[in-house]
Formats: sequence, structure tokens, C-alpha cells
Amino acid sequence: MPDTNSPADENDEKTLLEARVKALETDLRQKKEIILAQHTQLEAFSESSIDALVQMDFDGYITGWNKQAEKIFGWSADEILEQKIEQMIIPVRYRAAHLKGMKRFLETGETSVMNSLIEIHALHRNGHEFPVELSLSVIDSPDLQEFNAYIRDISERKHAETVIWNQANFDSLTSLPNRNLFLQNLEHEMHSCDRSNQSMALMYLDVDRFKDVNDSLGHDMGDLLLIEISSRLKKVVREIDTVSRLSGDEFTIILGNIDDQLAVQPICQELLDSLARPFQLDNEKVFLTASIGVTFYPQDSKKIEDLQRNADQAMYAAKSEGSNRFNFFTPELQQRALRKRKMIGDLRKAINGEQFEIYYQPIIDLQENMLNKAEALLRWHHPESGLVSPAVFIPIAEESGLISEIGNWVFYNAIEQAGQWREQYNGEFQVSINTSPWQWIDEAAAMSKWFSHLSQHGISGQTISVEITEGLLMDARDKITNRLLDFRDAEIQVSIDDFGTGYSSLSYLKQFDIDYLKIDQSFVRNMDHDPNDLALCEAIIVMAQKLGIKVIAEGVETENQDRLLKDFGCDFGQGYLYSRPVPAADFESLLEQWSTKDKSSASKNTA
Ligand code: C2E
Ligand code: CA
Ligand code: CA
Repeated sequence: MPDTNSPADENDEKTLLEARVKALETDLRQKKEIILAQHTQLEAFSESSIDALVQMDFDGYITGWNKQAEKIFGWSADEILEQKIEQMIIPVRYRAAHLKGMKRFLETGETSVMNSLIEIHALHRNGHEFPVELSLSVIDSPDLQEFNAYIRDISERKHAETVIWNQANFDSLTSLPNRNLFLQNLEHEMHSCDRSNQSMALMYLDVDRFKDVNDSLGHDMGDLLLIEISSRLKKVVREIDTVSRLSGDEFTIILGNIDDQLAVQPICQELLDSLARPFQLDNEKVFLTASIGVTFYPQDSKKIEDLQRNADQAMYAAKSEGSNRFNFFTPELQQRALRKRKMIGDLRKAINGEQFEIYYQPIIDLQENMLNKAEALLRWHHPESGLVSPAVFIPIAEESGLISEIGNWVFYNAIEQAGQWREQYNGEFQVSINTSPWQWIDEAAAMSKWFSHLSQHGISGQTISVEITEGLLMDARDKITNRLLDFRDAEIQVSIDDFGTGYSSLSYLKQFDIDYLKIDQSFVRNMDHDPNDLALCEAIIVMAQKLGIKVIAEGVETENQDRLLKDFGCDFGQGYLYSRPVPAADFESLLEQWSTKDKSSASKNTA
């Protein structure tokens, strides 16, 4: 058997081992040279880099610090090399996390920050923090153990980002959050309610008649006013609540941590009060009111769109109840809004669907005892609901912008009808039509086409008169003056409807060349038993006559009212006593009856 451990064999093995060790050593030396070369290259390169290169050994001491690092941190290499990194460039609040991360890496080789780009804050020599972008790599070999951190100062980029973010999220005029940020805040607040099991209130606040103020004061003053409004609103609410500006004069307020809905009432009142104090702008004192709608999360809805809609509906309800008030959302309000939306849809179909009809109510010449005028009163035969009152659908037509189309329909139909009756019964017959302020203000309402229609068809303007409200004269004076002159040129007469319920200023009636005043039915109704209303009716009649304006008393229901009005010298009467508004066919019977009545009274007179 051969001896496996002969001296010759041992020698061979030894040389083999030595050779292997040598080869390994060479290999290692080469590798080390490569690493060192790379490292030197890195350092050379880093001096010209736009990034700071900070190197650190595994004990946390700074071992490399390039020129850019000197620049962005303010420390020279001499000052900082061999210092503990966390003491020098890591803000105090991050130091513990940094040390923990280091420790974990050394124990497990794991790290969350290695080889990816992260954004953190760094500490400058002068103590201020600034945002940096950092990418970290590690060299872990027996000869070299080192972290390389490439650090870029991103202060400028962050600043630009902030500017852009602010622009996208804040209103530049008032510096309040805008719609964008409001929605983010709202969502955030909803989540925090879910977590804390609490409620929040969302308010929509709209300044009443802000547009008028803006128009009369000018936009610069309007802007100042909005700034002042914002600061007043902010003063009322708590630090944790947010006031935002959605648009124009529309604000929202989010009240967090509400545990009692009743507690919101005094806040609403305080908000209203804060705006009710006069605003001093230069030499002008401005008085404002606002309307507020409130909804609660999660009670009223858990959906963000619903909450917005609820608050908006509640705010509109407050406005339609007379403004300068607040209103909480209720399901009933929601029903009302739904009905309204359906009605708008139905109204759109009503004109083409021939669902409108004009009723006519006689206006009696009290002194001559004649019927030669009527008021056209619109009726809507709704396919499901039956007859709908104009008191219900006219305001909705106004709000939805449909009133112009409807107003035109009334004009063209009434004029045709009146023309026919003039030929058939009475050459002086005149129909009075109601107009909404909208039709006068909205250029697209095409009222100006009325005049060309009359002349094209050879119809006298006297066939028709228009009823307007006092408010129109007060609110939009300049625009209206010109329009009224056009009516005058077309020989169309003008009445003031519901006189006495608004501004009741007689002085401007002359100025606008008004032909008729219609005393509101509320005064006529009470004439019999309220001496004040009796005196008021008489005063209106006497003064109007002095100004050369004819008076029509509305809502005459009793013989006594008729007699009193005649005694005061009132020119015309309209009311259930003479007739309710009736369809055209029935009105023709009235015309016939009255024409024979005329003849009989005329024959009586001549007899
Ligand atoms: P208004 O212009 O004040 O019309 C008079 C209203 O009083 C009419 O109501 C009429 O039916 C009612 N009335 C007449 N005599 C008496 C009476 O003796 N006693 C009582 N209690 N009421 C009487 P109606 O027809 O329901 O119209 C309501 C309102 O709707 C009108 O008030 C008018 O403002 C508006 N309206 C009607 N038709 C039109 C229209 O074509 N265009 C516009 N813009 N508004 C219209
Ligand atoms: Ca009227
Ligand atoms: Ca009236």
C-alpha cells in the first residue's frame, strides 16, 4: 500500500498552498488598487460636482468633504473632517433616527435609505435648516468601509414648489384657502371626525347684494371690502376652524370638533354681527349683511358633494327668507330643492308643450264705468300637477333664466289677443303685461325686438302696457331710464305694480314718466277696517293725480271698497268684485256684457 504521507508529498502540498496564497494576495492587491483608484477618482470627480459629497466611516466620523459640501453647509473640510456627522449636519430632531438607522445597518446590513433618492432637512453651520436631496451608497470591503452621501441643496426648488402650491391653493386677494384647498381641508376634517367620532359643521356664507356694492363703489373698493370681510370672519372662528373663499363674495367655514349642533347657532350669529358693523373705506361707510347655510357631518350626509350642496341650499333658503340670517340644512329643504330642480326641467318643456295659457282680468274705469283694460296673468297647466300658480313658478323662472323666454311668449300672445279685441270690441282696449326685472336687465331678453315686432305688424304701442316694480327703478336706474325712453317712443305705457310695498317714493315717478300706479292689494283689502290703510290709499290717489299719474286699485273685493275708491277719485279698479282672471273665451263674454252695460249707462246718461 503506498504511504500517503511521504516527505515528497508534503513538500508538494506546501508549494501548492503557498502558490494559492500568493495568487489570492495578488488578486486582493489588485482589487484593493481598483477600489482605491475608484475612490481617488470619485474624490477628484466630487471636487467638481454640483452635489456635495460627504463621506463617513462606519463609526460615523466624516472622512470626506468636497468643495460643494463646504459651500452648502458652511463648514470647511479642515473644520469638519473627523467630526461626528450627526453633530454637524443633521438637525437635532433627526439625530436619534439617524443613529438608529446606522446601528441597524451595521447589525443586519439592512437600510431603507440606501441607493434611493430621499428628501430630508440638513443643518447649516449657521443653525438654519434647509431641504436637501440625498443619495447614499456604501463601500463595504476589508480595506475600505465607507458611506458616500451625495447631497444637493434643493431650497430654491422647494421655494418654487411652495410658490406654485400657494398659487394653486390660496386666494391671492385675501390669502384665504381657495376652493382647491377648501376641498382638501374638508376631506381631511371628515376623516378626522371619523377617527375621533365627532361632528363638524360646514357653512356657506354669501354676502347679500355684494354685486351692487361692488358696482357702485368700484372694484378696488370691492377688493378692500373682501379683504376686510375675510379678516372679520377669521376673527370670529377658532384657530382650528378654516375660513376659505370659494369665489367672489362666497365664503366657507369649516368648524371642527362640534359635539352640539346648537353650539353653532351663536357662532353663526356672531359671524352675521361681525359683518353688520359698518365698513369704513376711505370716506365711504358701507353696510353689509350676509346669509349663511349650515350642514353637519356626518349627520346630514357622509358624502363631500352632498355636504357642499346641503350648505349651498341652506344658504339660498336663508337668502330667500330675507337675507341677513342663517339656516340649518334639513331634509325638507332637500325635498324642496329637488322639487325645484324638477320644476325647472318641466318649465323648459312648458313653452313648446303649449302648457301656458294667459288669463285676463278686467281693469275697470271707475269714473266712466267701462271695461277697456285687462291684466294678462299667466297660467301653467302642468301635465301632472294641474294648474300651477304664477306666484310659484315665476320666481323659479326668474332664478333659472327662463323668464325672458316666458316673458316674450306672454308679450307676443297678449299683443295678438289684444289686437283682435281692439278690432272686435273696443278700439281703445289695452292689455297690461307683467315684466320681471330680469327682462329689463338681461340684454339677451330681446325686449328691444318687441318694438320692431309692433312696427312690422302695424300694431299700435297703445295696445299694450307694461307693469314693473318699484325696485327696478331704484336698483338699476341708468339702464332702466334708457329702456323706459324706448317704451315711451313706442307709445307703450308703463305701470308701477304693487305700489306701496317697496320704496314708495313718489318723486321718481314723475322723473321716469310713469303712467299708472297700481295700489297694492294689501292696502285695498284693509281699507274697510284699517284707518291707516284708508288714509294711505287716499293719499296715494291724491298725490298721483297731482303728478298726472293714473291710479289702479288692485284686489277690490267689496262694494264698500269700490265706493270708497270712487269717492277718492281713483281712476281704475281691478279685483274679484268685477271678475277673477278668466280664460280668453270667458273674457270675451265679459267684454260683451260690459259693452252693453256701457250702452245702457250711456243711454241712461243721454236720456
Ligand atoms: P300681480 O301682478 O300682483 O297680479 C295680481 C294678482 O292678484 C293675480 O294673481 C290675481 O289673480 C290676484 N288678484 C286679482 N284680484 C284679486 C282680488 O280681488 N283678491 C285677491 N285676493 N287676489 C286678486 P296671480 O294671477 O296668481 O298672479 C300672481 C303674480 O304672478 C302676479 O301678481 C305677478 O306678479 C305674477 N305674474 C303673473 N303673470 C305673470 C307674467 O306673465 N309675467 C310675470 N313676470 N309675472 C307674472
Ligand atoms: Ca301685475
Ligand atoms: Ca300687483
